[in-house]
Amino acid sequence: MARPTSITLCSFCGKTHAEVKKLIAGPGVYICDNCVLLCKNVLDRELATDAKKNAATGQAIPKPTDIRATLDLHCIGQEHSKKTLSVAVHNHYKRIMQEPVARSSEEVAPARHNDVEIEKSNILLIGNTGSGKTLLARTLAKILDVPFAIADATTLTEAGYVGEDVENIILRLLQNADYDVKKAQRGIVYIDEIDKIARKTENVSITRDVSGEGVQQALLKILEGTVCNVPPQGGRKHPQQEYIRVNTHNILFVCGGAFVGLEQIIQRRLGQRAMGFRTNPQETKSTELTRSEILGLVEPEDLVSFGFIPEFIGRLPMITALRPLTEEQLVTILTEPKNALVKQYQKLLSMDGVELEFTPEALKELAAQAYKKGTGARALRSLIEKLMLEVMYEVPSNDDIVGVKITPEAVTGTGKAALRRKSEQAAA
Ligand code: ADP
Repeated sequence: MARPTSITLCSFCGKTHAEVKKLIAGPGVYICDNCVLLCKNVLDRELATDAKKNAATGQAIPKPTDIRATLDLHCIGQEHSKKTLSVAVHNHYKRIMQEPVARSSEEVAPARHNDVEIEKSNILLIGNTGSGKTLLARTLAKILDVPFAIADATTLTEAGYVGEDVENIILRLLQNADYDVKKAQRGIVYIDEIDKIARKTENVSITRDVSGEGVQQALLKILEGTVCNVPPQGGRKHPQQEYIRVNTHNILFVCGGAFVGLEQIIQRRLGQRAMGFRTNPQETKSTELTRSEILGLVEPEDLVSFGFIPEFIGRLPMITALRPLTEEQLVTILTEPKNALVKQYQKLLSMDGVELEFTPEALKELAAQAYKKGTGARALRSLIEKLMLEVMYEVPSNDDIVGVKITPEAVTGTGKAALRRKSEQAAA
């Protein structure tokens, strides 16, 4: 017999309000607490099965060799760092796959497989400016299709001081994930200039170290995994503000810095074994090491001597040193990566039906000028932009031009880019 319609019933099991603890109303429908629990169990079971399938087949996680191959498309050189990163990232996402799924942002459970706990391995990249640290982290996020955020450690201060709270880093990640907390919780964060938050001296200061150890302590928590309260609008935390809770347990942190002076600390530890110090790798004297070779020998204790608290370094177990880019590598960077600068300009001009060519000597000259600036591949962009300005200005409004050749003279400023014109071709 049908029940009277004035009584509210669970639309799923048909029980009345009196028969259940809670009845939740939706537009024209109701669901009781029992049915909510039942649905949750079904979902948990299905999600866990999917995750197990993925973990077993490794479907969703690219293999280290695949990661490396894609990194190769974007980043020139840095072989050792690319290998280290590929392994670290593969293991990191394997670790995430092993975890129980449908976790709330409140849970912090270690990844387990047969009761073996896989620890998170955040990464530290040591290398000169413009050597590809940010590029590597950004490319990884692209490969894995996870949200990515960049932060600058120099802007951070411990809570209560003028500057940014560490939670703002997570806010940026959340924003890049369109406020999808679950997505953000699997993202990658790159923290640049991490060397700038090292304690400056071994002396104990009477004033508080607002930009050093305090920031390390604050960062330590998010690096190891915590539920942090993110102010949705950014800025300072405010007692009346509503927070979004984000669990940083599965967020992969990549930290980078130039670590000027670290090589001396490593040398001191190595003592007699590496007394010599070459700045130019061509000047070979077999017992001497270059700065990058010395940095390759870095141990956690050296970073502690550099001014980091041991717990902080403990949270960055994968350490790799990038090599300064050579002039030849700078030439390759101009032409070979997927989004190489030369390719970008060629594409822009091809939209006007114009063919752009750089002679090999012009590329060498550009690389030589960039190398002298000592800012790695960073200098290439500004140099090429300056070089191409006139051409980019003139070509779109001159239909006669069909080709542009950049010569070494155009790069040095002693000549101009050679232009090929339709009218000249017709006359010839
Ligand atoms: P940093 O090491 O200072 O983080 P970036 O990764 O930001 O340097 O690099 C600065 C610019 O130089 C970027 O445009 C990047 O594409 C380019 N670049 C740097 N290193 C490489 C590299 N090894 N291969 C290709 N491009 C590079």
